[in-house]
Amino acid sequence: MIDDAGTRMHALAERLYPLCRSITGDGLRESLRIIAEEIPIEIKGVSSGTPVFDWTVPQEWKVREAWIRDPNGREVVNFRDHNLHLVGYSRPVKKRMTLPELLPHLHSNPQMPDAIPYRTGYHDESWGFCLSQNAIDQLADGEYEVCVDTELFDGELNYGELLISGIGSEEVLVSCHCCHPSMANDNLSGMVVAAELAARLLDQPLRYSFRFLFLPGTIGSITWLAKNESLLPRISCGLVLACVGDQGSLSYKKTKQKNSLIDRAVDSVFRDSCPNATVRDFMPYGYDERQYASPGINLAVGCLSRSTYGSFPEYHTSADDLSFITPASLQDTLENLERIVLAVDQNSRHLNLKPMAEPMLGKYGLYSRTGGDRTGKFEELAMLWVLSFSDGAHDLLSISEISGIGFEIILDAAQRLTEAGLLGELPE
Ligand code: ZN
Repeated sequence: MIDDAGTRMHALAERLYPLCRSITGDGLRESLRIIAEEIPIEIKGVSSGTPVFDWTVPQEWKVREAWIRDPNGREVVNFRDHNLHLVGYSRPVKKRMTLPELLPHLHSNPQMPDAIPYRTGYHDESWGFCLSQNAIDQLADGEYEVCVDTELFDGELNYGELLISGIGSEEVLVSCHCCHPSMANDNLSGMVVAAELAARLLDQPLRYSFRFLFLPGTIGSITWLAKNESLLPRISCGLVLACVGDQGSLSYKKTKQKNSLIDRAVDSVFRDSCPNATVRDFMPYGYDERQYASPGINLAVGCLSRSTYGSFPEYHTSADDLSFITPASLQDTLENLERIVLAVDQNSRHLNLKPMAEPMLGKYGLYSRTGGDRTGKFEELAMLWVLSFSDGAHDLLSISEISGIGFEIILDAAQRLTEAGLLGELPE
């Protein structure tokens, strides 16, 4: 059963899909503007040429047109038909050339002979086109006319930011990249799931503040980090969302710290409800988690995906289209993600206020009234686990792990025991 959220997220991906996003430019800005219709992100701009750590904010890239005509004047490829046809950040060119001169500028993916691959050349000072292998195989000898009408100019790099304030000053970061042109799993799925999660968190009381970042990959997170160094000590942990809409099982790349709060929350939700989910250790390759984990930054940020980058043949090709992501998968990601962030938010440590033997639960109305009620027995068992381990050393996530009982049931038990005056919450 697909509820409205999955359909809504897929519909938002459909709106964003045709735009030509890159690390700068109109397509990125328009995408952020559409996200801003869903949730109140602030769209920020940082001028080209601004130094950000070891990098520099690049010039903006704009495409007016880009095409190739064959010796008979017939169009071989046109950017208008699919924005993956032009290598990102292609420099302008207008000339005639022979097929052997042209071929080094054409890119294909022989493993996916019908698909257009995705290529960028941010730092190449060159130009290129991406075509299916089948289209390249059909090119005849002769003179071709090439037009790449693009412009690089001083403008700005944009990103979207939303802070949802909780009662505490500590923050959880949720980050997704927004720099890929028309591909759905990488990266629209991360954007639409992040937007839907933010919309849900806006409606509930929170302990942590949640900071959402929608930014171009690598240079965007580096720019944000360089501009916000003073905020870093507040960030307790975080998640990067990428490739979260395909039909594979959920997967998680741990933080560099391995056992941070976010790692434990993911563990708890996967153990409870995602039997096919996989977990792997941190490595300094992938998405923006590698910037957040660099030694001078040192944030505990993991990465939630379904199929991981590079592991599916559609990755970085035109076959990663809207049919590759499904409302049901987006919905499944969202629901588990929401449980993960709420486990982070609601995790706490307590002290058993009647620690001298077990308290007499019946006295407090906490004993199941109907003797044979299995749900009631399970809730009682959860209360016994919470009472036994509320010694100040164990938080609710660790009680969930030790007992094998889902976090929400342990949390509910702790709340009932607190209301009955048997448990006191400890400050962090
Ligand atoms: Zn990518």
